[in-house]
Parts: sequence; structure tokens; C-alpha cells
Amino acid sequence: MKSDLQRYMDTIPAVADAARLKETFWLNSRQRVGGHKEIREVRPEQIQDASQRLLRFAPYLKAVFPELEKTGGIIESELRPIPAMQAWLDETYGSGIEGRLLLKMDSDLPVSGSVKARGGIYEVLKHAEDLALKAGMLKVSDDYSILAQPEFQAFFGRHTVQVGSTGNLGMSIGIMSAKLGFHVIVHMSADAKQWKKDLLRGRGVEVIEYADDYCAAVEQGRINSDADPMSYFVDDENSQALFLGYSVAGERLKAQLEEQEILVDEDHPLFLYIPCGIGGAPGGIAYGVKQVFGDHVHCFFTEPTHACCMLLGMATGLHDGVSVKDLGIDGRTDADGLAVGRPSAFVGRVVEPVLSGIATIQDEKLYDLMRGLLQEEDIFIEPSSCAAFAALIRPQDMKAYIDARGLSRKMGQATHIAWATGGSMVPEEMKKIYRETGL
Ligand SMILES: *Cc1c(COP(=O)(O)O)cnc(C)c1O
Repeated sequence: MKSDLQRYMDTIPAVADAARLKETFWLNSRQRVGGHKEIREVRPEQIQDASQRLLRFAPYLKAVFPELEKTGGIIESELRPIPAMQAWLDETYGSGIEGRLLLKMDSDLPVSGSVKARGGIYEVLKHAEDLALKAGMLKVSDDYSILAQPEFQAFFGRHTVQVGSTGNLGMSIGIMSAKLGFHVIVHMSADAKQWKKDLLRGRGVEVIEYADDYCAAVEQGRINSDADPMSYFVDDENSQALFLGYSVAGERLKAQLEEQEILVDEDHPLFLYIPCGIGGAPGGIAYGVKQVFGDHVHCFFTEPTHACCMLLGMATGLHDGVSVKDLGIDGRTDADGLAVGRPSAFVGRVVEPVLSGIATIQDEKLYDLMRGLLQEEDIFIEPSSCAAFAALIRPQDMKAYIDARGLSRKMGQATHIAWATGGSMVPEEMKKIYRETGL
């Protein structure tokens, strides 16, 4: 293994940079025109199926989460222009972003305050529906608000849901499963923040803590769950349901852009920048937007230098066959939502023909960006989320990509969306610490 990796380091500059913990920007040479039509692992109809399922659950979600009253049970976030941040990025980093910059505020998604409120909640709902349908207690034509009734609580209470998490996935799975009545166990890695564990315990979730990293927490969760026939394991390393839950973001984003009269077409390119941990969230979102906008959207993932697992997996083509530790990288980062050492077994393969590239960023910069956004736009997002700006502050690399695709003349009409993936549930005292962290 070691000698193989040396070969990759010798031939792929981004891998060599990554091994030295240098910030880097890998451009995907396997991206192809029309690449979204080549993806076979998942099909566009499956996005529709997920979207329909979320609509069926809307009356239930509206009934049990008062914060979803105004959207009729749809969990969605605002898409907000951030012109002051755009100017600040230019002054501070010489980003020279042409076109306009918006923030997709999944940092404020209702119910669980992170991007995981898309995939995580979706997978729990799907599992609940599968169980209730199979038991003959529910029909797809029913008004799903009946799921709030005690008989369903009692039914789900005989079942367990388990998940391994660095924090935010556990929050989504934990909050949603507990609300439905499931017994839920969240296996948390050492990176998980104390306040997330406390919050979950406060909602009746069983939290098991590990001194080890994320992969170890997942492994133990899987073993526990497999030993119990009444238990269901949310498998972040392989889950298609999670991926599909995220992918519904594509059609939702399309509607929001139309509402704001923002064009996306041949002459109006769209650029997305999404923080990446194991890959499910950014992969699902990228798959969803590619089905909607095809070659007119350019998707970039962003990772911390210390947990650049997707970059390694995709640049080497080894995917889940490589871990950051194989290159001597410790996997330790303050970006807890991204603290993953080994990428998903299937996401890298799915996005291979469509992903534009991956940029990495040092932890110190995450705090600077966090304070910049707070100061300029009065928006708080957690450090992991701030990785969304990693590619935007590398103008030379972006220019190389733009020139190579003949987009330079169109950039005045371009739209850039930094995908803020978490933040609103961070307690006040933590926000204060983050603001004052001088890393
Ligand atoms: C989980 C998470 C991500 C990335 O999602 P993955 O599916 O792990 O790639 C990004 N940002 C935050 C805040 C997260 O919690």
C-alpha cells in the first residue's frame, strides 16, 4: 500500500500537497460533458420518489415541528445574496469573484440546523414508512399526520435506529427518530462536540461515546445494530437513502433561483461549493443539481487539509480504499462535521463524471471566514460550513478551470453559491468561543 501511494504522490501534485498538509486544489480530469447522463448507480426517478415521499410526510412534520408551520412541513433553507461578504473576500483574499455570490443557508435548516436535515431526516422517514406500510398500519394515500398518534409511537418504540456520527448526522437522526417514537442510539466519535451530546440526551436519545475516530464509531454502531433484528443502522458509508434525501435539493434550488429571477443556462453558469465529509451530502446535492442543470452547473467540494479523504479517494481512484492515515495525515480538524478519514464507498464513483474539483483549506482560515461572514452579513455559520469558501479564495486555480472550459467571457453573468452546511443550533456560549478563537 505504502509504495503504491508513493507512486500517486509522485504523479499527482494535489496528492503530494495533501500529504504535506498544504492547501491544494485538485481539478477532476475525469469530468465529462454530459457526464450526468452516464451515472448508473442511481437514477433520476429515485430523486422523484424521494421528493414524493417528503411531500407525503409534510403534514406529519408540520404537525410535530411547529417551526415547519409556515412551509407546510417542507424542510428548506433560504438562498441569500451576500454582496458584502463577496467584497470582503475580494479585499481579504483577492478572490476577484465575477458574477454574484449567494449563500445557501442549510446552516439554518429547520429541525436540526445542518445539511443533515436533508439526508438524515429523509432516511429515518423512509424507514418509518417502510415499517408502517409492511405492518399494514399505513397506506401511501393516508394523511401522514396520523403518524403522530400514540399507536404509532408505541409501534416505532419497539424498534431501534442506530447511527455513527461526528455530530450533525446524529442530531438529525436522533431528533427525528426520537420524535417518531423510536429507541435511538447515536455512536459518537471523539470529534463530536459536547453540546451535541447533551442536546441529544435531553431529547431521550442514547449517546455512546468513543475515544476513537469516526470510522470506529460507525463500525461499533454497525456491529451493535446487526446483532439486534429490531434495529436499523443508518450507514453513512454506503447509504443510498441518505444520498437521495440530499439530492432533492436540486429541484428545490431550481425553484428558488427562478423565484429570484436568476438565470442558469449556456451563458449564465452556476458554480456550487459544498463542504465535504464522507461525501453523502455534497455528492447527493451535486447529483441533484446536475440532473436539473446538466453542464451549466459546476460543482466543487471543499475539505479541511487534515481530513481531505474525498480528494485522496478521487484523485487516486482508490475511493474507500484509501484513508488519510495511509498518507500520515492525522484526520484532526476543528471542522467536526468534516472530520472523516475515509470517503464513502460509492459517492466518489457516482460523481466521478460530474465533479469539477476539490479544494482544501486550513482550519485557521475557517475561523477568519466565519468572522468575516458574521461581520459583513451578520450571519453565523459553524467552522465546518466555512469550508464552502475554500475554492473561492483560490482565484488562480478557479481561473485555470474557467479558462479551460472557455467560460471567461460568461463570468460576469455567473452565479456562485457557497453552501453553508451548519450553524443555527450552535449554543450561544460556543458561538462566543468560536468568535474569539484566534487560531
Ligand atoms: C456532515 C456535514 C457535511 C458534509 O456531509 P458528508 O455527507 O459527511 O460529506 C458538511 N458540513 C457539515 C456542517 C456537516 O455536518
